[in-house]
Amino acid sequence: MSTHDDYLARLNAEQRAAVEALDGPVLVLAGAGTGKTRVLTTRFAHILKSGRAWPGQVLAVTFTNKAAREMRERVSAIIGEPAEGLWLGTFHALCARMLRRHAELVGLTSGFTILDTDDQIRLLKQVMDAAGVDVKRWPANGLMAAIQRWKDRGLTPERVTPAEDTDYAGGKARALYAAYQQRLRDLNAADFGDLLLHVTEILRTHPDVLADWHRRFRYILVDEYQDTNLVQYLWLRLLAQRPEPMHRNICCVGDDDQSIYSWRGAEIENILRFEKDFPGAKVVRLESNYRSTKPILAAASHLIAHNTGRLGKTLRTGRNDADGEKVRVVALWDSEEEARMVGDRIEAARRSGHSLAEIAILVRAGFQTRAFEERLITLGVPYRVVGGAKFYERQEIRDAMAYLRVLAQPADDLAFERIVNVPKRGLGDTALREMHRIAREERIPLSYAAETLAGTLKLAKARQALRELVQGFGRWRALLAKEGHVVTAATLLDESGYTEMWKQDRSAEAPGRLENLKELLRAMGEFETLAGFLEHVALVMETDEAAEQDRVSLMTLHAAKGLEFDMVFLPGWEEGLFPSQRSLDEGGEKALEEERRLAYVGLTRARRHAIVSAAANRRVYGNWTSAIPSRFIDELPPEQIEREGAERSRPAMPASVFDRGPLTGGFGAARRPRVIEAGLWEVQERPARTTPFKPGDRVFHQKFGPGTVVAVEEDRLEIDFDKAERKRVLDRFVEPG
Ligand code: ATP
Ligand code: MG
Repeated sequence: MSTHDDYLARLNAEQRAAVEALDGPVLVLAGAGTGKTRVLTTRFAHILKSGRAWPGQVLAVTFTNKAAREMRERVSAIIGEPAEGLWLGTFHALCARMLRRHAELVGLTSGFTILDTDDQIRLLKQVMDAAGVDVKRWPANGLMAAIQRWKDRGLTPERVTPAEDTDYAGGKARALYAAYQQRLRDLNAADFGDLLLHVTEILRTHPDVLADWHRRFRYILVDEYQDTNLVQYLWLRLLAQRPEPMHRNICCVGDDDQSIYSWRGAEIENILRFEKDFPGAKVVRLESNYRSTKPILAAASHLIAHNTGRLGKTLRTGRNDADGEKVRVVALWDSEEEARMVGDRIEAARRSGHSLAEIAILVRAGFQTRAFEERLITLGVPYRVVGGAKFYERQEIRDAMAYLRVLAQPADDLAFERIVNVPKRGLGDTALREMHRIAREERIPLSYAAETLAGTLKLAKARQALRELVQGFGRWRALLAKEGHVVTAATLLDESGYTEMWKQDRSAEAPGRLENLKELLRAMGEFETLAGFLEHVALVMETDEAAEQDRVSLMTLHAAKGLEFDMVFLPGWEEGLFPSQRSLDEGGEKALEEERRLAYVGLTRARRHAIVSAAANRRVYGNWTSAIPSRFIDELPPEQIEREGAERSRPAMPASVFDRGPLTGGFGAARRPRVIEAGLWEVQERPARTTPFKPGDRVFHQKFGPGTVVAVEEDRLEIDFDKAERKRVLDRFVEPG
């Protein structure tokens, strides 16, 4: 066989058929791990190798930038040279590039700016103000969400029919949408949704432009097709429906069982309608799964069979080592024990030579990563958080930490600066400059200067808001002495308006941020004092990571789409967490089925080891709340799973651990962190930490190099570094030197 065909030899017959059917529309509809992405990549290479098109004549759409990078690498490897000049990326990236070429057709110039959510909100408020809409009564976020929905469906203001209108602001939403679009044009700006909307509109209304693109793109490839929304679909269809005699060479690959973005407007109907829009389409089904062992595959298939709204498909294993180990379902006492279990297994895997890059922890909600991150740090296991920031680096956590730092230390100017106008307190640049001036002249911290400043502000609203903040800190410090740091932190976040800010926020990330804040309070509960906690975080943040390549991956299930790992941990399979409380509240089967698809995505990421776990208790600010195992655990086939850990949970109320009250709500009547009712359940206090080091020891620190220990307190060392100043560090980051 010539080298030319080598890459084809790595495919099975069906995959090969999908790759070689180059002319005309192709839909590959197949389960997880059947090689859909491999087909798409190979098809790309095959098109180039067989001389059907130049690299720049293929349009390839991936779901994330990471997937785009991977595909570029895989294509390069197959064609044996760097793949350049490709039109390969996410819908947004590709559309931004196209829009730059035709910006003037929608009243922009090619240098237009792309706005982020903050800018969008600011602009919407201006527009609403100008239209005399009361921004207090109608939060701008609601309008933003409505506009986004329209944009996801390809509706420009002119295309929104009265039937599509919402009752927002007494039926003014459509007019506001039009005014907002005009403002964007005036500013030469586009929001994220505009990228697709504008390009689709241009292609719809300018046949000459469309014809140009038709001549350019001979082949179109789309991965994760099940998650496209309507406007993305319209864009694809416009580009793909080339007039005769040109071919409609579009190849989409997807899996209806992995559709997990309906909240972002993805429509499963797009799959079903493919055959109608592209008559004569070749539909290829792949049934051999090459990724997972038999038990993992059987468990995932059995689980997803509980969904009714699916196309249904057979999946069998294509692996030789198919027998493999059963899916483990581990019952644990609480979330801390869960984090320990995961950490221990990762340690054991590492000792037996397992690569960390082949291990992933996939969580349902972002806040869950915190417990695992701390455990991994303790064990000295390097990790990365994919598709998001590490817990203590997240925006809302940094904000909250800034509040706590000011609480502990009024002179912490950096922290005060971060929060003085978050949430917005109506302080403009001039006011902030004035605050700095006062601080400098009177040589006082900013938080004191703010008090003086408050007296001079002309704007009554700003004056009031700043006063409240300054007085608030006085009150919270008094509370800290009386009630302890957890209650105080919860109160502070509520009273400062910080929690409220995220509650008002209608963006998709806002609920996750609120959960992160609750998780922060939980983390604080593990420390005796505020100072102890702040120091812990400062030290955790110190850890240097740039050097390590081999790391465990932590991410949400949503971010894990398309990826695979040898060993996958799936923690927190509890009612109210997974399936999420929101999906249960909505009540309908639809939301629940989407959660189940998410579980299916999770399980099918694993090649050889899948470890599902559920904790019987979760602590919510010192309260223990019992949780019941997820229904998804019961939906796994008993013969494919191995249960571990006693069923120690007592009969539990199916109440959610994650209530949506104010942060202080959990305390309600009893304003003390360790609630009496919890007495029975209280596990032991954190044992005193000891360290093998003593003053005088020579040590080596990962980041600061050699030094001498001068003082020891629990697991914290004070070290005189040879090449850096004296520092306090955690003992696990140093070795005997
Ligand atoms: P997902 O639905 O999760 O996106 P997928 O259908 O895109 O999965 P791939 O990621 O392309 O599946 O393939 C899964 C794994 O199986 C990969 O490791 C891939 O290299 C391997 N694989 C695919 N086809 C074959 C084959 N014919 N022979 C051996 N291994 C294969
Ligand atoms: Mg894939």
